[in-house]
Amino acid sequence: METCTYELSHSAIAATHFYKAYEGDRVNLCFECASRFGYPEYLIEYPQPWRPQYGYLVATLNGTGEFGEVETWPMDGSAVEWWLDVLGCPDVHNLLADASWEPYRAHQVIDGAWTYEAARVTCLPLAQVCK
Ligand SMILES: [Zn+2]
Repeated sequence: METCTYELSHSAIAATHFYKAYEGDRVNLCFECASRFGYPEYLIEYPQPWRPQYGYLVATLNGTGEFGEVETWPMDGSAVEWWLDVLGCPDVHNLLADASWEPYRAHQVIDGAWTYEAARVTCLPLAQVCK
């Protein structure tokens, strides 16, 4: 972890930004120091830590061989629950439980002419669609 080297008493605080000083040395700034730094245009933000997360791919089929709503981007857990509910899936909970149990396979719930499909995948961090 890079720590703040801008203010001596901040040596234990994580740095969020840095700038290149004379001869290329890095000066690290914590969030507080970066916030009151007089030349923000020279600051470079350290990348945020990230980790892969689970997402769900959803499709609905209407029995004619054509797809209804198809999401080509994965959605996070709460967004996919909301979306399946909007689409009218009668058993969202079990569909997502099946998808979690066996990832990368399309699991289905059939309701009359409609088939609801969900597959869990591992993906890059997802934007929060609805909260
Ligand atoms: Zn600081």
